[in-house]
Amino acid sequence: MRIVFIGPPGAGKGTQSANMIRELGILHLSTGEMLRKAQQEKTRLGRLASDYINTGQLVPDPLILQLIGERLVQPDCQRGYLLDGFPRTLGQAKALDEYLHQQGTPLDVVIELVVDEAELTRRLSDRGRSDDNPEIIRQRLRSFQDQTRPLIRYYSDKGLMEAIDAIGTTEEVFQRIMQAIQRHTPTA
Ligand code: ADP
Repeated sequence: MRIVFIGPPGAGKGTQSANMIRELGILHLSTGEMLRKAQQEKTRLGRLASDYINTGQLVPDPLILQLIGERLVQPDCQRGYLLDGFPRTLGQAKALDEYLHQQGTPLDVVIELVVDEAELTRRLSDRGRSDDNPEIIRQRLRSFQDQTRPLIRYYSDKGLMEAIDAIGTTEEVFQRIMQAIQRHTPTA
């Protein structure tokens, strides 16, 4: 099973990802986590990505495509994966499609977590990651609106989109997500 998980910062993708991979037995591939690891390890890619991450901007597509491209060819990806935070631009989505098409392994579903902006800002301010200060949060929300929102139309046109109301308890939101996944994978 191959799932793309989309949502603005603070929507709860991290929490729900953990539940989903436990339930589905697939890998969790988070480009945000991969980037923070590269930053900590001070790899070339980590250094190149740092200024973007620290100012809430998207890391340029070529760097992201290199990072995720190296990961997706690993043999463990054959059991399926949840892509969390990737793709985030139309360019990334098209590159992913091309790769999946070549492999003959299409996406099953794209899950979007929907939360209004006031609630997002409140949740992020409570969290305390180094890119969670008010000005950078605003920039990350802007990056989402400008660059990631167009993906929703792109995947809707392919019949893959499922918008999930992400206000409620963790368990309620999880149940909504699992129902949406089942609509696209009736035999699973
Ligand atoms: P959030 O969803 O809360 O913003 P992430 O951990 O997904 O957190 O991402 C943190 C930062 O990493 C982003 O603000 C961005 O700078 C960078 N990043 C992560 N994934 C991508 C991606 N697919 N394309 C470009 N930049 C990315």
